[in-house]
Order: sequence, then C-alpha cells, then structure tokens
Amino acid sequence: RAKSGGRARIDVFDANLRRQAMAAMRMEADLRAGLEQGQLCLHYQPIVLLETGGIAGFEALMRWNHPDRGLVSPAEFIPLAEETGLIAPMGRWALGEAVRQLAAWQARFPRATPLFMSVNVSTRQFRDDDIVGAVRDLLDAVPIPPSSLKLELTESLLVQDPDECRMLMQSLRDMDVRLSIDDFGTGYSSLAYLHKLPVDVLKIDRSFVRAVSTGEGNAAIVQVIAGLATILRLDCVAEGVETADEAVYLRGLCQYAQGYHFARPALPEAIERLLAAEDEHIALPAPA
Ligand code: C2E
Ligand code: MG
Ligand code: MG
Ligand code: MG
Repeated sequence: RAKSGGRARIDVFDANLRRQAMAAMRMEADLRAGLEQGQLCLHYQPIVLLETGGIAGFEALMRWNHPDRGLVSPAEFIPLAEETGLIAPMGRWALGEAVRQLAAWQARFPRATPLFMSVNVSTRQFRDDDIVGAVRDLLDAVPIPPSSLKLELTESLLVQDPDECRMLMQSLRDMDVRLSIDDFGTGYSSLAYLHKLPVDVLKIDRSFVRAVSTGEGNAAIVQVIAGLATILRLDCVAEGVETADEAVYLRGLCQYAQGYHFARPALPEAIERLLAAEDEHIALPAPA
C-alpha cells in the first residue's frame, strides 16, 4: 500500500513539475516575444523630498502589457527574466527608455536641482551585460546631467564578486552616475563593504518602514539604517511609505521617501499632470 501510494505521489509530482516547466517555457517565449513587440512599458513612481513633499525624482518600474493577461507585475516576470538571461536586453531597454523620459521631463519641468531617475539593475544584468558601455553610450546620446541617473543595485550583487563589482561601480561613478543600494537591510548586508564601495544612496526596504506603524521591533531598524547613511554621508530613501504617520516619523531621519502615501507608480501622462500641478503651485503669487 505504501509502495503504490508512493508511486502515485511521484506521478502527481512529475505531472506537476512537467506542467510548471511547460508554463515557464511558454512564459519565456511570451516574454521574449513581448520584448521584441514592445509589450514592456515603464511606470514611474515619484520620489519626494520629505521636508517639502515636492517631487525630486522617480523610480522606473517595469510592467508587461501581456496581450491576454493584461498588465503583469514584475514580481511575476523579473525572476524568470533573470533565470533565462532575458533580463539583460530587457534591462538595457528600460535604461534607455527611462533616461530618454528623464531628458524630456528635465527639459519640460526645469528645477533648481534637476529631476532624477532611478533605474533597477538586476545582478544578472550587471554581470552579463556591458552596463558601463551601455550607460556611457546613453549619456553620450541623451542630454541629462549624469548625476541625475541613479542605478539601483541589490546587496546580492555586492557580495558575489566584490572586486569585479567595485571596478564596475567605480567606472560608473567616474562618469558621475549615482549608485543606490535597493531594499537595504534585507540581503546579506555587510557593513564592511559599504564604505569600500562607491555607493551614494541607501533605500530602506518597505518591510522596515511598515514596522514603523505596526509597532514591531524592527521599527528601530529604520533609525539604524538612517543613522548609518548619515555617518557614511549617503542619501537615504524610505521605500513603501503608505501613511501620514510614517511620513512624519521619517522626516528628520531620511531626506527622501517613496510610497503610495505620496504617489503610486503611474504612466508618463499622469506623472506630467503631477509635475505641471507642482509648477503651478510654485508659480502662485505668495498670499498677501
Ligand atoms: P523595488 O525596486 O524595491 O521597487 C519598489 C516596489 O515597491 C515597486 O513594486 C513599487 O510599486 C512598490 N511600492 C512602492 N510604494 C509602495 C507602497 O507604498 N506600498 C507597497 N505595498 N508597495 C509599494 P513593483 O513595481 O511591483 O516592482 C517590484 C520589484 O520588481 C522591484 O522592487 C524591483 O526589484 C523589480 N523591478 C521592477 N522594475 C524593474 C526593472 O526595470 N528592472 C529590474 N531588474 N527589476 C525591476
Ligand atoms: Mg528599486
Ligand atoms: Mg526597493
Ligand atoms: Mg523592494
């Protein structure tokens, strides 16, 4: 009985595995076609200066406009893109698209400090693609101040091949591009690498920011990371700020914040309405 039960279980297991593998292959083919057919798009989420609430820049977030499934979230396709290596051409496309969008917005919405664009670069893309060459070509072709481009890297990259990684990061920094550590505190953080690498920004992961309002123990982690940023003279962005209370708590701790409380990721047209509204507000005569 045990034997036949085991056999049946293995058959079910095999069938499930096969189904999963088929689904993954189908999705990979779909994604490849989607990339070629222009089904990928970017949404942009404002990153605000906490002191004023004003828009300082954006994070570009990839979406997949699937012909049958509608808008697919990156949580569903980025891992597959990383496994298959598709992330390199996808990431390169996103970088170009985001930088061209930034150039257009900087021209149309000039600010004392130019608007910035933060672009996610996955570990596999950083290793597989010639990211330094891609950024150099882009900066040659598109008129933005290089310092208004920020690349978001994850801790997993920094621990894999620290020496190679440091060289690439330094080449980017030499072009005056800025480097952020995304989801800081969730990976294999080592404080040792931080001061050795040319990092400019720490992004505090949303799980720690959430703890501020739920009153969990790791609320203190936000203070620790913000303190670390201050000591290392890095900028600090709090991710996933959803409530006014969180924003108030964070003011004084970090310079920048990003989250649904301020604005959700949106298509360029919606972002342009926000920027235009801000300009109008700024242009208003001071009340008598
Ligand atoms: P991430 O880089 O940490 O991006 C922040 C994520 O938090 C985004 O999810 C954003 O929509 C979400 N978010 C922002 N504010 C809030 C909030 O107040 N509450 C909540 N619950 N969520 C908030 P999204 O767009 O689904 O992206 C998920 C992840 O996919 C990103 O996390 C990033 O790791 C990856 N990703 C997105 N676009 C790209 C890309 O172009 N290239 C690469 N390599 N990865 C990308
Ligand atoms: Mg990010
Ligand atoms: Mg993040
Ligand atoms: Mg995150």
